[in-house]
Amino acid sequence: MLLSQSAVPASRSSAGTGAARVDLQEAQAAGNLELPGAELSGEEVTVAVVPMQPDEFRCARCFLAHHRSQLAGQPDGREVCPDCS
Ligand SMILES: [Zn+2]
Repeated sequence: MLLSQSAVPASRSSAGTGAARVDLQEAQAAGNLELPGAELSGEEVTVAVVPMQPDEFRCARCFLAHHRSQLAGQPDGREVCPDCS
């Protein structure tokens, strides 16, 4: 009885450790995403800071964020706005 009860908090603590590892990986992934932009021109650093909304896309040519309804096409699989198409 005592052994089975002590096993419950042990499994909980291991689960918590796994969640912490996931957070670290996400933080590292976010950092890796920002590093390439930081090495480019000042304009693109500013663009990278702007949070992208789920219903937005970033034009592959002018690097500006536009609403999905503004998507003109995807030549080469890259999303392009009407101004750049
Ligand atoms: Zn564009």
